[in-house]
Amino acid sequence: MKKLIAGNWKMNGNLAANDALVRAVVWGIREAACTVAVCVPAPYLAQVQMLRAGSQLELGAQDLSQHEQGAYTGEVSAAMLKEFGVRYAIVGHSERRQYHGETDAVVAEKAKVALAAGITPIVCVGETLAEREAGRTEEVVKRQMAAVIHTNGHCISEIVVAYEPVWAIGTGRTATPEQAQQMHALLRAQLKAATEHADRVRILYGGSMNAGNAASLLAQSDIDGGLIGGASLKAPDFLQIIAAAA
Ligand code: PEP
Repeated sequence: MKKLIAGNWKMNGNLAANDALVRAVVWGIREAACTVAVCVPAPYLAQVQMLRAGSQLELGAQDLSQHEQGAYTGEVSAAMLKEFGVRYAIVGHSERRQYHGETDAVVAEKAKVALAAGITPIVCVGETLAEREAGRTEEVVKRQMAAVIHTNGHCISEIVVAYEPVWAIGTGRTATPEQAQQMHALLRAQLKAATEHADRVRILYGGSMNAGNAASLLAQSDIDGGLIGGASLKAPDFLQIIAAAA
C-alpha cells in the first residue's frame, strides 16, 4: 500500500503564497513514491485545482457539510467539492470537534456523505491531554472510531483514518513512534473486526510531524502516512516528509 502524505493548510494561505507553495510541491513530487494531497481552504480549491493540473498532487478539502443541499448558510456540500476535483476531505478534525461542536455522530454522517459523493474522508480521531492523563485514551479513540464504523458499515474499508492526539497538534510535541504505533494497531484491530479489508485502510499519524521526526514515525508497521499541519505550509519541510515516506 502506497503511503499517503496529506497537508492540512488550516486557515492559512493567500493567492500569492499558495501559488509559490503548490508550484514547489508539484515540482518536488514528480517522482514521489507515495500519494500526496493538500487540503486547502474552500476559496482556494479552484486555484489549487488549476495549479495541480497534470501533476500527481491530489486535492483535498478540510471539511464538508453532512447535508446534501439546501438552507445551510455557510456550508459546502460534497457535490460542490467534487465539482472542483476534490479527492479527499478531512472530517472530524479536533479543531472542528472543539470549536464547532462536532459530535461523533456528525463526523460519522460527514464521512458517509463524502463516500456517497466519491470523496475519500480522512476521519480524524484522537484524545486530549486530559483524556490521556486520565487513562482514557483507548476508550475515547475507540468510541470516535466506532461511531464512524456504525454509520458506514462495509464502506468503512474506503476511508482513511488519521490518529491525531490533540495534545500533539500544533504544539511541537509529537507522540513517540511507539505511542503512535500502539494506537494505530488498536485502530487496525477495530477495523478488522468490522471489515475483512482493514489492511487496505490507510491509518495516518498527525500531530507535529516534521522533517526531523517523520522517518521514525512512518517506519512503524501500522503508520500508513501522515496528516501534516504546520510543516505542510513550507515546501522544503513538506517535501522532506514526502521523501521520508518513500
Ligand atoms: C493537523 O492539523 O492535522 C496537524 C497535525 O497539525 P500540526 O502538524 O501542525 O500539528
